[in-house]
Amino acid sequence: MEILVLGSGTSHGVPVIGCHCPVCLSSNPKNRRFRASILVRNANQAILIDTPPELRLQAITFGVHRVDAVLFTHTHADHLFGLDDLRRFNDILLQDIPVYGDAAIQADIRRAYDYIFRQTQSGGGKPCITLHDVLPEFTLCGLHIQSFYVLHGQLPVLAYRFRHADPGASPASFAYVTDVSYIPPESMEQLRNLDLLFLDAVQLHPHPTHVGLNQALEVIEELQPRRAYLTHLSHYFDHDAVNAQLPSHVQLAYDGLTIAL
Ligand SMILES: [Zn+2]
Ligand SMILES: [Zn+2]
Ligand SMILES: [Zn+2]
Repeated sequence: MEILVLGSGTSHGVPVIGCHCPVCLSSNPKNRRFRASILVRNANQAILIDTPPELRLQAITFGVHRVDAVLFTHTHADHLFGLDDLRRFNDILLQDIPVYGDAAIQADIRRAYDYIFRQTQSGGGKPCITLHDVLPEFTLCGLHIQSFYVLHGQLPVLAYRFRHADPGASPASFAYVTDVSYIPPESMEQLRNLDLLFLDAVQLHPHPTHVGLNQALEVIEELQPRRAYLTHLSHYFDHDAVNAQLPSHVQLAYDGLTIAL
């Protein structure tokens, strides 16, 4: 399996509109961050996590030619409002795209994208998706996936753990945990023995609905994944300067980062 980071940025993206800070003015491409999303490729198929507002640009920039399924973490605007761009993947694959989320996520999608579910409009003008309940464990695109909750302030957000479904394949596993301020003990247990962890770290200091850098490092210290990448990053992180101060197995994610497991 291969993980492609489509976006490593917080809800504003980086650069931030109208900001003149050194990170927003930086010429380092690793300081340019689309809104947060990853693509998990396996056996010539691809699972997208969240549909950020820049999905079209992310797909064009990083050569994403197919999406076979979408998993949602939650429905904040920075994770949801690129869903209409799924149309193009319907056209390419000539099939509906299954979209996974809990009841609250599905209700938000039905409300925000009510035109998708109305019978009055048809043709290529709207995405063709089917909504599915996310289960604690399921298999998709040859991958075994576990879902569990973390807290984003008061909001429960879905986190996902992946490994190959084929028991003869590599046992490597990774998890994607974005938009989190607290990980309940039972979810911490689901995050042990990871080869790779993607974890939220929105800014250097604690935030009401996100872990800050030091809290993220404490979580990583407790969980001991082999490698960890911090994501959902704001303009307070200069990629090279912060990376130079992090432990060697922890790095800032960046748009276009690709990892094979
Ligand atoms: Zn977010
Ligand atoms: Zn800035
Ligand atoms: Zn959020």
